Formats: sequence, structure tokens, C-alpha cells
Amino acid sequence: MFEDLQPAAADKILAMMAVYRDDPRPDKIDLGVGVYKDRNGATPVMRAVREAEKRLLNEQQSKTYLGPAGDAAFNTAMIELIFGSDADAGRIRAIQAPGGSGALRLCADLAKRSTPNATVWLSDPTWPNHGQIIRGAGLGTAEYPYFDVQSGSIRFDAMLEALRHANAGDVVLLHGCCHNPTGANLNIDQWRVIADRIVAQNLVPFVDIAYQGFGDGLEADAAGLRVLAQKVPEMIVAASCSKNFAVYRDRVGAALVMAQTSDRAELAVGQMASAARTLYSMPPDHGAAAVRMVLADPALRANWQDELEAMRQRILALRVRFADALRRQSNSDRFDFVARHRGMFSRLGLSETQVERLRAEHGIYMVGDSRINVAGLPEDRMDWLAKAIVSVLG
Ligand code: PMP
Repeated sequence: MFEDLQPAAADKILAMMAVYRDDPRPDKIDLGVGVYKDRNGATPVMRAVREAEKRLLNEQQSKTYLGPAGDAAFNTAMIELIFGSDADAGRIRAIQAPGGSGALRLCADLAKRSTPNATVWLSDPTWPNHGQIIRGAGLGTAEYPYFDVQSGSIRFDAMLEALRHANAGDVVLLHGCCHNPTGANLNIDQWRVIADRIVAQNLVPFVDIAYQGFGDGLEADAAGLRVLAQKVPEMIVAASCSKNFAVYRDRVGAALVMAQTSDRAELAVGQMASAARTLYSMPPDHGAAAVRMVLADPALRANWQDELEAMRQRILALRVRFADALRRQSNSDRFDFVARHRGMFSRLGLSETQVERLRAEHGIYMVGDSRINVAGLPEDRMDWLAKAIVSVLG
């Protein structure tokens, strides 16, 4: 059965992590994998999550099945966290999913079951798993231009122009905030224009929100999504708690659907539950139960928000210091966009050869497209790092 198997395509980021681990240089720097790191390079369990886990251990009486939709109170809390307390919650449903990736797959399955011939439009560039997950659900994909490497800004007119070619019923995947891999985000006016285009052409927005709280704040990071929700009749959302609750390996996320009526939302979430049943039956409980406890308990919630805000501020400060160092070392404003970007990533605009030279000559690891994890920047070696980057430009 396995004689003719070929090796599966390696995940570039995971492969790079392995090379980094084996690199003996003590001053090596990991700007690769997308996890938040504190100033010591650690990714700690958040205080409120740890407290919720302790309570869970003491209070949980049973681990019997909950069903494909997971924890109902978690799902309700996620609707409020993402759509806000003013949302028309009667038309919105959520289903717990194994991480944002699981949620993306449930949303893609729902789209496939509703409009089998829909094309899903992805930003160029986007997180590479988007295309793989969506095509894995049997849908076709197309790209809209998004990022101008030279200026580090959004190609908004080109994006709109490309979406003009989408057919009614097509799906437009948008990053809710903190675009991965570029860090360049739509402003609120641009969200409004996109929403109008989506309505005019009868498209369906599909928002991936994986970094809420990492960009401009918990509410501000959902503002674009909420503008859409005000203007469009239907939308789907894949949310991840991996980063903002730091529960990466516990696999916590939610797939959300907003429909024109409560009945249709119920039908849609039922289809997602049926898709879950065939994929993995039910989501893992532990992390979602902890997140639900944090969101429901005012003291835990406040504690969580404080810690998340400190993480966000740290990322912002690193952005400013790195942009300053790059300006000093390059004598140019070429990299100023790093301070303007939001979220964990920026794409520096280096060639693959330059990225490879940084790894070989300096022990600096970043993704091949020159995406850096800002949280991995070393506070005390900014100029050293900026100098190394400038040294490979020439
Ligand atoms: N969407 C985007 C844009 C991401 O960057 C990630 C994580 N890297 C995810 C979704 C999903 O994350 P997870 O499945 O770990 O929750």
C-alpha cells in the first residue's frame, strides 16, 4: 500500500524550526514561527488561563461528550467577543473548533455545501495554509493583489479591481486584523468600501481573525469585521484563541456564521456540526472550557485583558525600536513601514537569497518570504540585527 508514496511537501516554517534547533551558534535569533514571545524568549501560559485551569481541575465533575458544537457557553462568549455586545446575535451562531485552522475548515465546508462552485478569493500573499485548507474542502481559490513590497503598503485599488471579476456567490477571505504575513491592514474606511463592493456583487465575506488584541486593541481589531456585519446580509468567520489566550497546543477556536435570519443561521451551524462529525466528531474541551471561564468571570477577564494589552504594547514598542535601528543602520526610511504595521508579523521585502545569507552568515532565522515575528526581536541587540540586515542588502 505504501510502496509508491512520495514524501509529503515539508511545511517550510516547521522545517526551519528544526534547523534552528540544531544550530549551535549561541547568538542565533528565531524570527520564524508565529508564537508570541516575552523578553526572555518564552511563551508562557497566561495568568488568567492558569487560574481557570486550576478551577477546572477542582470543579469539573465529568468528561462525558459535549457534542460536535463543543461548549455552548464558550460559543456564546465568542460571539460577543468578536461581534461585540451590540451585535444582532439572534442571526449569529458559533461552533467550537480545534483551533483557527479547524474553524477555517468548517467554514470552508459550509461554503462548499452551500455554494459548491464558489471560488474563494485570497489575498496575495496570505497565510499558506489558507489555500491548502480551502482546496482541501473541495473549493477553488483565486487571488486578489494585496501588498506592495516596495512601500510596505496595501494595493487597495488593485484589490478592488480584482474583486470586480468575482462572480456572485464567490467568497472573499479577509484577515480580520494583523495580516499574516505582511502586517499591513485595511483601515476602517477601506473596510467600508470593501463591504459595499461585497454587497454590490453579492459576494460572501469570510473573515479569519487569529490575532484579536494584538494589533490596535481587542475592540479596535474587530472593528472592520463589525463594519462588515453592519452592511452585509451574511458572513462567515474563523476565529482562533491560540494567540490571544496563548493556548496554542490546546487547539481552541470557533467557526461563526451570520445569516439573514435566525433559522438560516441555525441551518448553517447545523451543517458545520455535521462537517465536524465527519472530520473529528467533537472538538477538544479543555482549552475552550478555560477560555470560557476567563471570559465569564469579570476578575479573570480583566486580568486576561491586562496581560494581553501588555503583550500588544511590547510588540508595538519592538516595532518602533526596530524601525529606528533600521533607519540608523540603513540611513534611509526604507523600513519605516515596520513601525506602521500591526500584529505579530512584518514582511521586510528581502529576497530569498538575502534571507538565506542572514541565516548562514548571522544565525538570523526568518521565513523565506522575509516575514519576521516581531515578538522574537531581541530588545538588546536591535542595532546588531539591523546592521546584519543592511549588510545583505547590497
Ligand atoms: N489564521 C492565521 C492567519 C494564522 O496565522 C493562524 C496561525 N498561525 C491561524 C489562522 C490558525 O491558528 P491555529 O489553528 O493554531 O489556531
